[in-house]
Amino acid sequence: MKMSETRELRNERSLARLNKALPEIFPANVLSHALARRWTPPMPRLAIDSYWRAHPLRADRLCRALAAKSGAPEGWTWRLKSADEDGLAATFRAPPAPWREKAFSRGPGFCCVCGQPVYRLGWHADLWDRGPNKNASWHTACVTAWRLWNAPTDHLKLLKRRQKHRCAQSGARLWKTSEVDHRVPLFRVWREHREMAWPSLLAFWGLPNLQVINRDAHVEKCAAEAGTRRRITQPSPSP
Ligand SMILES: [Zn+2]
Repeated sequence: MKMSETRELRNERSLARLNKALPEIFPANVLSHALARRWTPPMPRLAIDSYWRAHPLRADRLCRALAAKSGAPEGWTWRLKSADEDGLAATFRAPPAPWREKAFSRGPGFCCVCGQPVYRLGWHADLWDRGPNKNASWHTACVTAWRLWNAPTDHLKLLKRRQKHRCAQSGARLWKTSEVDHRVPLFRVWREHREMAWPSLLAFWGLPNLQVINRDAHVEKCAAEAGTRRRITQPSPSP
């Protein structure tokens, strides 16, 4: 049997399963994305997952908008893990996530990234009028956003395309070896902007602070940043 026939057969079965499991109300854009896939996702949850994976920048925007609805919990400040505090990140490289911290968690049915209720199938709006899904603690969109924030390099291709394959630093054509970079480096976010209100802080991990630059430009930028770091940490002796 040829590969295309195998695919057709499998897609036929997947579509039958998907149709059977599909709730009466289902986001139309997710469904059309699923039907246009090379391999049809056989379950509604997989269809939603596939949709957000294909649209990480949309997920990033949505997650930050949902987080803006929640705001930061009362009394929260961005801190790094010291001894055995639960849920705190050990490094400033990780995006601050107050709702993931044990002390502020809203419990099942609420997203640990944005703090908003999670509905059926990990969706962010209650299309079914059934209230929060008590078995979920992540929106599917927020999983994708979280992945983008923590590993932006995985999205190099997409980010390059957005920049029309031009280096954000020099304007030259991007080379194969180009790299994803944070415009404002994360050490400076921690040092200079940590008092900024959450979730505005999250924009430093999202698209607004991501750029692709050529390796030579990146090396130069890192050297300049390291220089600033040294000057700040080791102040020159007073005259
Ligand atoms: Zn969320």
